[in-house]
Amino acid sequence: MMTFAILKTDSLARLGRFELPHGVVHTPCFMPVGTQGSVKTLTPAEVAETGAEIIVCNTYHLYLRPGHRRVQAAGGLSKFMGWNRPILTDSGGFQVYSLAALTRVTDDGAEFQSHIDGSRHLFTPELVVEIQEALGSDIAMCLDECPPYPVNRPVAEAAVARTSLWADRCGAARQPGTNLFGIVQGATYPDLREQSAKSLTKLDLPGYAIGGLCLGEPSEVTYDMVARVAALLPTDRPRYLMGAGYPEDIIAAVRLGVDMFDCVLPTRNGRTGTAFISEGRVAIRNSRHADDQGALDPACDCYTCRSFSRAYLRHLFVVGEALGPKLLTLHNVWFFQRLMSGIRTAIEQGGFESWSSEFLSRYRPGAEPAGQENDR
Ligand SMILES: [Zn+2]
Repeated sequence: MMTFAILKTDSLARLGRFELPHGVVHTPCFMPVGTQGSVKTLTPAEVAETGAEIIVCNTYHLYLRPGHRRVQAAGGLSKFMGWNRPILTDSGGFQVYSLAALTRVTDDGAEFQSHIDGSRHLFTPELVVEIQEALGSDIAMCLDECPPYPVNRPVAEAAVARTSLWADRCGAARQPGTNLFGIVQGATYPDLREQSAKSLTKLDLPGYAIGGLCLGEPSEVTYDMVARVAALLPTDRPRYLMGAGYPEDIIAAVRLGVDMFDCVLPTRNGRTGTAFISEGRVAIRNSRHADDQGALDPACDCYTCRSFSRAYLRHLFVVGEALGPKLLTLHNVWFFQRLMSGIRTAIEQGGFESWSSEFLSRYRPGAEPAGQENDR
């Protein structure tokens, strides 16, 4: 139900192509997040126009509302939400640990209370696979245990063991044709990361994710863990770094051989008034944009940058118009898709290193970091 081919490599960076039930995905790719079956503020047609070929939706949220059986009866998630392209669903594990009131985790599963109505639920590996199959996901993720950062070694060790046990059960529960990815855990302990990668690759799954990173640890640590894990993953399977969203982190991980990314940054920051542009980040509410008739990013050809000034975008945010978050989200999603297509072209031409140093010489990660609340 899935083919993945590496078309070209440039040092460790990889250019790849997926064929999934709902379409083709070119890698390295960035997957916008559509948590509740919607990339917030954008229509599926607008998301597709940015060049996005696959999005991430959330098992935990869709299980609670509207319910996976209801989505299945509606013809699957792609049809239900009008997105006629591939969808990856996460396992729900991360939300269970971060959002729900977690009551108990045992080897059997994760028992939690809904953040909506307090009702009690048990996510077992088998149920999580069943939910994702009912949603009709192109790529399903194994239930994993993702401890917060920082975490002590005994907890990280237990999470690695449980994640392996659950991956085994997810693999046994899946229907033929379900594209199930394993998730490597191990926090920031190099030997646990290696142990987790070795144990999961024994299951011969069609793809592997690196979870439990980008949780606030220093970037050198993130990159070190990614390098160690990527070196142990089979070269013919896709690798997905979960939750990495800063352009500098994506570029660093592509350099280490990662193929897939997702993050709420472009959409969440877009809604709160922060744009990613070629030079770094812009806090659009900042009063210095009040009379700026220039484009948000003169180097960008998205609808927002072609049509509106910074002064107007700032005005929309200051008065609280719904169009402001929508236009900034559209630009941000567009910006990340342009970033990925730039990366793919550079790998194809064998010039990833020079492309990334040129990109990073313009892009200053810390540019205009604060000031969102200035002069509201
Ligand atoms: Zn733009």
